[in-house]
Amino acid sequence: MYSRNYPSRLLQDAVDELSSLPGVGRKSALRFALHLLKQPVDNVERFGQSIIRLSKETKFCKYCSMISDNDICDICRDAKRDTTIICVVENVRDVISIENTMQYNGLYHVLGGIISPMDGVGPAVSNAIFDAIGVRLRELPVLPEKVWKGIQEKNAR
Ligand SMILES: [Zn+2]
Repeated sequence: MYSRNYPSRLLQDAVDELSSLPGVGRKSALRFALHLLKQPVDNVERFGQSIIRLSKETKFCKYCSMISDNDICDICRDAKRDTTIICVVENVRDVISIENTMQYNGLYHVLGGIISPMDGVGPAVSNAIFDAIGVRLRELPVLPEKVWKGIQEKNAR
């Protein structure tokens, strides 16, 4: 179908997909698509493959839920880490921010956005995880829903 806005269906499809990214409007999406069109096909293939592999091959660490290339992430496998400290964070971006400061040497537990600190329950969840499992977090897969349910039950008593 001919579109008044785009001279090509292929261009329109690319703009549709690119503009589905957070913070990318249709103008920016068009700019990206036209930029990609000017690149050598090898570069565009590498670009596309990295996104496909990100989606298909990314794993989540079985201990801390951090994004990882393996079943256990590099942080949890690092023998130099202080395993007595666990920082409970909302999402992967928090881990990346903290790691970039190079000031923290403990482990993490990524809640994965299921419970947001913005909802005011973050500290309660953190405390519950520490109380419930402390340093043994590495060996126990703890679901935030389970912890939250535990808090509610405890408060109901
Ligand atoms: Zn991990």
